Amino acid sequence: MPDGSDIASLTDQMVYDFIVIGSGPSGRRAAIQAAKLGKSVLVIEKGRRVGGVSVHTGTIPSKTLRETVLNLTGWRERGFYGQSYRVKKEIGAKDLLARLHMTLNHEVAVLEHQFARNLVRTVVGTARFRDPHHIEVVGEDGELNVYTAEKILASVGTRPHRPKDVPFNGVNVLDSDEIVEISHLPRSLAVIGAGVIGVEYATIFSALDVQVTLIEPRETMLDFIDRELIDDFTHQLRDRAMTLRFGSKVAGFVFEDHHPVTLLENGRRVKTEMVLYAAGRMGNTDLLNLEACGLTSDSRGRLAVDPKTFQTSVPHIYSAGDAIGFPSLASTSMEQGRIAACHAFGIPLPPAPEFFPYGIYSVPEISTVGMSEQEVRKRGIPYECGIARFRETSRGHIMGINTGMMKMLFAIDTRRLLGVHIVGEGATELVHIGQAVLNLNGTLEYFIENIFNYPTLAEAYKIAALDAWNRMPRAEVLAR
Ligand SMILES: Cc1cc2nc3c(=O)[nH]c(=O)nc-3n(C[C@H](O)[C@H](O)[C@H](O)COP(=O)(O)OP(=O)(O)OC[C@H]3O[C@@H](n4cnc5c(N)ncnc54)[C@H](O)[C@@H]3O)c2cc1C
Repeated sequence: MPDGSDIASLTDQMVYDFIVIGSGPSGRRAAIQAAKLGKSVLVIEKGRRVGGVSVHTGTIPSKTLRETVLNLTGWRERGFYGQSYRVKKEIGAKDLLARLHMTLNHEVAVLEHQFARNLVRTVVGTARFRDPHHIEVVGEDGELNVYTAEKILASVGTRPHRPKDVPFNGVNVLDSDEIVEISHLPRSLAVIGAGVIGVEYATIFSALDVQVTLIEPRETMLDFIDRELIDDFTHQLRDRAMTLRFGSKVAGFVFEDHHPVTLLENGRRVKTEMVLYAAGRMGNTDLLNLEACGLTSDSRGRLAVDPKTFQTSVPHIYSAGDAIGFPSLASTSMEQGRIAACHAFGIPLPPAPEFFPYGIYSVPEISTVGMSEQEVRKRGIPYECGIARFRETSRGHIMGINTGMMKMLFAIDTRRLLGVHIVGEGATELVHIGQAVLNLNGTLEYFIENIFNYPTLAEAYKIAALDAWNRMPRAEVLAR
């Protein structure tokens, strides 16, 4: 441990306006924003390559895997050619990994170029606070350097929760970081945890015709999504023979013939070739030596911040991204990072819009913006719904789509759009039309009076709006 004399001798290379710890979406966006404001910025990243969970083990790998699976299996064409249709007859882990590595290399190259163009400096090493203004960084070779900055962002993200009683072995009992690099495809898979990550992987593997059992202690999944959508989604999963074991906790594991057997508290046994444990994530704040800067984290390693500025209780230290908890999305993390950097350097920003989209890249995908029907009821807003099935659109027919639905909610008094909920092909792209109308305070009339490209899946907006219009009290009735 250095004695402190090294702080006095800090060189220009070690003094910055802004230090960003972690190069995931929030750190990356914050660093570039601060650099664009003319600030000197250092990003410290403990991984060998920049990009964070988003690039290396989370968003991009899982979405690349999904796209590869949908392409190689011919999933999108099965409406026409039947369930046995496959573009590639034998799909192995190698096929999946090849495309993954190409995508990751590209993402890292783009990010490195962005940093270089904006004169953001990066160092590889694990950062920890020495005091509220000084950061020690231990490099890969064990060398220790000390850096200082006026403002600091702790954007350290999370890692998979690995309970001691789960027999992780890197071979057939894996966490969500390890599943990305599997060496062979299992014939059967138990996924523990029906949160977003568990549901995404369960449905991706099921699309590969792997026999999947999804295990969840609660009776329901994805509780923040509109229930009608989840009912439709659940029906689709059951229809393709996915097994859902909900309402019972995992009691333990045994191995039979080297295969893991997941034992449930209700006495059921789920024997599969592989287990993916995807129940929860922990903040990486334990590496930061938080006591040295006067901060503490909660039991899941998360930091508390002011949700408007992303300042912690130590005003020059900010935090953003998954380290601060919900919603834990790459999309929201980027925006949090930008807001934190602007606030740190005195740039006023308008408040963030109330509603942002949520995308779940399961098969089929789900996307939602605004209030669910349950939320609208809770708030006591008189409302009406409109529903469209994708098979009602010409584009849906052309694409051979038999499933998928859109649900829209409108306020009866103001006719304003309150929420859009989509399950099915293209949901995560389609939702942005609803998002724009919602955040611009648009009404039902927008969808009725405007022309949409034809044939498109976006036509579902018109169909759902007309469905709601049919049920809504007429304007003249309201006026009386
Ligand atoms: C399987 C999976 C799928 C996902 N899919 C989506 C999706 O489809 N869409 C979406 O919007 N979001 C998705 N997410 C969430 C998304 O990946 C995260 O919200 C996002 O990565 C969080 O960004 P972050 O800025 O908090 O940093 P992270 O991406 O978590 O990165 C943090 C970085 O900090 C580094 N670090 C930690 N401690 C230190 C230290 N002491 N010193 C130096 N460096 C340190 C880590 O090495 C890491 O590189 C997914 C996540 C997972 C796991």
